[in-house]
Amino acid sequence: MKSIFGFLFLSMLSINVFGFSNQIDNDTLKVKTAEQAFYDTSIVFTEDWIINQTFSYSNKKYDVNKGLALVDSIHSYAFPIEKKTSSPFGRRHSSFHKGIDIPLKKGEGIVAAFDGKVRYAKYNSGGFGNLVIIRHINGLETYYAHLSKIKVKPNQIVKAGETIGLGGSTGRSYAPHLHFEVRYRDKALNPEKIFDTEAYCLRNDETLVGELMLSSKPSRHHHVDEEFLAKGTVYSIKSGDTLSKIAARSGTTVSELCTLNGLSRSSILQIGQRIRVN
Ligand SMILES: [Zn+2]
Repeated sequence: MKSIFGFLFLSMLSINVFGFSNQIDNDTLKVKTAEQAFYDTSIVFTEDWIINQTFSYSNKKYDVNKGLALVDSIHSYAFPIEKKTSSPFGRRHSSFHKGIDIPLKKGEGIVAAFDGKVRYAKYNSGGFGNLVIIRHINGLETYYAHLSKIKVKPNQIVKAGETIGLGGSTGRSYAPHLHFEVRYRDKALNPEKIFDTEAYCLRNDETLVGELMLSSKPSRHHHVDEEFLAKGTVYSIKSGDTLSKIAARSGTTVSELCTLNGLSRSSILQIGQRIRVN
């Protein structure tokens, strides 16, 4: 009995292997080849395509009224990790935060937001840590920073929802989180104009480049230097604080606070701004 079933099973298997499944494989292969050809030849993926640097665009003028399809009948989306955003895009004390921060546990999977092609996938010493940049069909790029592990390679085609790395705290980061950016021709856009970061869905299926741009000018100040802050005791400015009050409470002087933090006596302190008191 056993051998008869074994024979039948093997016969069915061989029909599948040499019959129907072969047809399916050919069709899949055709789709894959067409897709590969598109990614290989489309101007979006050939012009200003540099795999070993973060910002890769030339200073060409572009149309802010250009429409961007975010999804269509065959291209989907996914939120990189469905967890609560802790820090929004925009002005942050004396710096400008060019993405959103999503706290997570080290090792949690991060997925591609849209279909696209990996342009950059390596450690970045500028603060991003392990960084993956994916360029999408509409020309947008998404940045996934501070990863503990990178799971893709440059020039690899990825689908929305595909795991591209694991969350971590590499680079300028003090707790595991994803720093997620959306850029158009290197210009950082507000990801929360694209995604509803509470429902983890798209706000619109299509948008305009100009719609995504922030109206206020980016700060000319430097990014908050987390490494500098980590070397001493940090104080977070509260309402009503002055440098002399902080100095008195911390057993230091105004001039020492100024020298340490690169401030002047007349510097305007912002609530939430962090300074070192020693
Ligand atoms: Zn961030």
